Amino acid sequence: MTADEVFSRYGIRKTLIRSAILTALLEKHEGLTYAELSGRIGKGNNKANIQRALNFFQITGVVRKIVFAGPRLRYYYNERKSNNHIYFTCEKCNSAYVFISEAPVVCLPESIKVIKIEFIVSGTCPCCNENTTHQ
Ligand SMILES: [Zn+2]
Repeated sequence: MTADEVFSRYGIRKTLIRSAILTALLEKHEGLTYAELSGRIGKGNNKANIQRALNFFQITGVVRKIVFAGPRLRYYYNERKSNNHIYFTCEKCNSAYVFISEAPVVCLPESIKVIKIEFIVSGTCPCCNENTTHQ
């Protein structure tokens, strides 16, 4: 999927900064930290403009932000237009992934209004498991 297709899919206006951010997030499925994101989209964009665009994307549901233990915050393109996500973080190398599958169903009292559900699974990634196996 391209940034232009995302603008069309969500019916939102395209700007240069929004396009640069989306393109960067679409290229990195494991998400990007703010520093990685700002590094990828170039120095021509100031922090306020980047933050404003990220806030807009989060409000419209295009981009999700997840805070891993640390705290390590990463931004992701919300590929499934879903409010339920499963995230995985590797405890050895700190890599992070977003699972395509929906989060498990959670039974809560009816009096609770759920806005979003986020699951963070931690463990060791295939790369770290591979390295452990061959030592
Ligand atoms: Zn790892």
